[in-house]
Amino acid sequence: MGSNRPENRKGQPVQGPSKAAVTTRALSVGYGRETIVADINLILPKGELLALVGSNGSGKTTLLRTIAGLLKPISGSLEVLGGPPLAQPWRVAYMGQFHPSSFMLPLRAIEVVRMSRFAAHGLLGRLTAEDEKAVEEAIDLMGLGGIAMRPLNTLSGGQRQRVFIAQAFAHKAELILLDEPATNIDASSRETYRSHVRDLAKRGVSTIIATHDIEEAAACDQTLLLAHRVVAYGKGEEVLTAEALLSTFGIVGKYKEGRIVLVEREHGHGCD
Ligand code: ADP
Repeated sequence: MGSNRPENRKGQPVQGPSKAAVTTRALSVGYGRETIVADINLILPKGELLALVGSNGSGKTTLLRTIAGLLKPISGSLEVLGGPPLAQPWRVAYMGQFHPSSFMLPLRAIEVVRMSRFAAHGLLGRLTAEDEKAVEEAIDLMGLGGIAMRPLNTLSGGQRQRVFIAQAFAHKAELILLDEPATNIDASSRETYRSHVRDLAKRGVSTIIATHDIEEAAACDQTLLLAHRVVAYGKGEEVLTAEALLSTFGIVGKYKEGRIVLVEREHGHGCD
């Protein structure tokens, strides 16, 4: 029988029918007692895309890792899919910027993509035909068919990045967290993942993308501008103002018909 409730691969009841994928109230994130960004208030509805935008060191990764449950909030509240972060790891996919498995284990690309499916089964679980289908689809989507059997440490940076994006997609999560996914990859691969997250959004999947790229942010439903503090939060056209861009990046620009027009670059505004 059909149900609108989120799927649970373990057949257990899932947490509340919350309409939001992520809700934060007065959330402060950081390391130990050091706050990196304070007082973050956001509501990301299911099926929407949020861009975290800022220059290097502005706090994007710190916030993303907190939402992924890899860092504890310093204060305030954070709800992910209606519960605490990490309560149901199979519902959340996280692609970080650093991939230790690229350097350590002699894994093949396909095995890295398969790892996403163990969130539901545990490391000792067996993958089902449905899991293998999800892996195959993600590999095809990211154009990795020809290199799927190659060891990861023999691939280029861009090929590896596509493997990790495929891993996030193969997870079949309800919330996808992507940290700088556009790094090192060509324009057509960028368009592939961007159009895939838009397709997933139509099915209620939410995605948060940390990015330097203002054009990428403009294509999302919401933007959070960060510069070690919240500069602005809201819809692209409301947030990507000349003043906010100056505070975030040290650039002066205008948002016009879905595009940012750069006007001038200021000095001394810490975009590294
Ligand atoms: P972004 O993703 O926007 O480049 P980060 O969230 O990685 O920024 O970093 C924000 C700030 O947190 C930086 O000042 C950085 O030096 C600091 N930082 C990052 N990782 C750690 C850590 N493990 N311990 C302490 N500070 C850190």
